[in-house]
Amino acid sequence: MGQKLQQHRRFLLKAITAAMLAPRIVLGSGVTNPEVVIIGAGVAGLAAAKTLRDKGISFVLVEANFRIGGRVYTDNDIFGVPFDTHAHWMMISRKNPLIDYAKDNGFNIYRDLDKRKYFVGDREATKDELADLRGSYQAFNKKIKNSVYSGASGDDDNARTALGEDFFNSPWGYTVASDYGVWNMAENSKDWSPTDWWNSIGGDNWFCAEGYGSVVAHYGQDVPVALGTAVTEINWQGDGVKVVTSAGTINAKAAILTVSVGVLAAGHIKFTPQLPVEKQEAIDGIDMAVMNYIGLHFTDDVFNFGADTYVYQQQHDENGVGYLANLNNTNLVYGYVGGDQAKALENVSMDTAITYGLDGVKSMLGNDIEKKFIKGHATACGKIPFYEGAYSAAKPGKQPMRAVLRETLADKVFFSGEATHRTQWASVNGGLYSGRDSAVQAATYIRRIS
Ligand SMILES: Cc1cc2nc3c(=O)[nH]c(=O)nc-3n(C[C@H](O)[C@H](O)[C@H](O)COP(=O)(O)OP(=O)(O)OC[C@H]3O[C@@H](n4cnc5c(N)ncnc54)[C@H](O)[C@@H]3O)c2cc1C
Repeated sequence: MGQKLQQHRRFLLKAITAAMLAPRIVLGSGVTNPEVVIIGAGVAGLAAAKTLRDKGISFVLVEANFRIGGRVYTDNDIFGVPFDTHAHWMMISRKNPLIDYAKDNGFNIYRDLDKRKYFVGDREATKDELADLRGSYQAFNKKIKNSVYSGASGDDDNARTALGEDFFNSPWGYTVASDYGVWNMAENSKDWSPTDWWNSIGGDNWFCAEGYGSVVAHYGQDVPVALGTAVTEINWQGDGVKVVTSAGTINAKAAILTVSVGVLAAGHIKFTPQLPVEKQEAIDGIDMAVMNYIGLHFTDDVFNFGADTYVYQQQHDENGVGYLANLNNTNLVYGYVGGDQAKALENVSMDTAITYGLDGVKSMLGNDIEKKFIKGHATACGKIPFYEGAYSAAKPGKQPMRAVLRETLADKVFFSGEATHRTQWASVNGGLYSGRDSAVQAATYIRRIS
């Protein structure tokens, strides 16, 4: 008992010391021996905390990083205009509570009109080429649907097989495959599961002029969080849970775990006893896909297509960059790279990655466009130990593993976060809902055992 008390005090003292350095660090409701410990202050952890607070359940929310928001963050310094370094589409308006939250709190949000322009080399695609492109999009949908409905399973449940080599040999095959694949699923066609894709829901997207990260930071601003507090072990033996952190051990009745599946796969958190085999298989079956942005700031709207225009050049492989030009009239161009190419670019210098993104623009607009280039920045989410990638994507044949991943361990360790959502995985809204759901389940459990 004496040792336990000492650990708690150490935890509290470290947290207080850090509070003097960090802008925000408060222990949940002043409780160091809470009913629930929430691990990770991304949107899932923040939603879980708000839900538990509403239900009168005590909690401590710990976060390894020195800020909240996790994979939703707006940087205003790099370009002097809002730059979302991770999530930036506010997805599925009818299912995304953050849309109303943003409206109610004075954020300037607006619908993404999905305005698109296509290039073939250095010229815009002709009418006939665009008609051909539409055919490729239709073929894509049909082939992916056929693969799912024909029950493709195991290794055959991959988009490359589903689409077939003829599709990739057609003029727009790689462009359409890149649009849905590397620039969306953040995986090459051979690596993503049509079944997983088919089991997700889509809808219209919105943008926030101040950045999506600003909305989530606002959403979490009143939630007490112990920042800079990394969890290294979860001991779920016996009664309750012991959560070992860089600032001491927290004893709780239950834990809500919201870290990414990439963090789990990397083994940054030790489980004592080890996780059951099926849980470990689920972690291994769900990949942490990699999507990065090459932000390119210009002196003006270089494409001259107006704000928020997607610009895609005809692709001949899956290594290319998809662009979103002139976001919210800021002259900022987002270049999207995903899958194998994104991983490769993480292993070169940022300057090389920026040049790669800029070369893509030059190949459409000519070399002189560089005269209007101010500055670039390339993200590398696969190199960030707090995430280990961008978002979850079930490996071929492994879609059912999402259900196993979200199963509660020993009634008291609730697996949460975007990867566990049934249909809205890989999204901020999915993360938010998963956090809420886990908190409701945790509250029910706490009431049952109290
Ligand atoms: C490049 C990119 C683009 C994206 N684009 C979009 C988009 O446009 N729209 C959209 O809706 N979604 C998008 N997403 C996905 C979206 O960002 C995530 O699905 C969502 O933010 C996940 O929230 P979460 O709370 O589940 O996980 P996280 O945000 O990862 O939260 C988990 C938290 O746990 C913390 N943590 C990790 N390890 C530990 C530890 N050991 N101890 C304590 N804390 C720890 C992390 O620092 C993090 O804050 C994108 C993601 C990326 C990376």
